[in-house]
Amino acid sequence: MGESLPSAGRLISDTLKQTFEDRMDELLVDLGRKITLHLEPTIEDCPNCGFSSILKRSNNIYNSSNPNALGPLHKVFSDGQNCPVCGSRGVLKTPRSVEYTATIKKTFRDDQISSSWASIKNKLAKTNTVIDSYKDIIDCSHATIDEKMYKRLGDPVKTGLQSFIRVKCFWEMVE
Ligand SMILES: [Zn+2]
Repeated sequence: MGESLPSAGRLISDTLKQTFEDRMDELLVDLGRKITLHLEPTIEDCPNCGFSSILKRSNNIYNSSNPNALGPLHKVFSDGQNCPVCGSRGVLKTPRSVEYTATIKKTFRDDQISSSWASIKNKLAKTNTVIDSYKDIIDCSHATIDEKMYKRLGDPVKTGLQSFIRVKCFWEMVE
């Protein structure tokens, strides 16, 4: 037997729902601070050398058709030397990060956290961010919160009333 509920409620209008979500966003901005999520770096072929698929690194041969102007991405070198652009790795890694505004909680009663976290209670942080941050929180390797480095603890949780509008996540400070 399923639920028997009216197809639509009449107490809260769509306009009021939108107003609620807008006010929640304003509250987040008023109370929140910026956190930085560090994502996997992008990896692309070095334009300045060839890649050895056997060695899985640079073949240490200058690529004379490097399309970049002479500079950080284009440095002439003698074959056999280490490529000065990629350090002979054959690829360039570009760090990626994204900022979100979060409300941040750092003090917890014992009943607010998993008992397995009791010993790290003073290293915990809980963030509350916009729903759009969900995938980045899943994907990030770590986060900077109040200038300290944190790793994610457990899975982020989507929260909201009629629709999900926030992501809550626990983090542990790492040395
Ligand atoms: Zn290179």
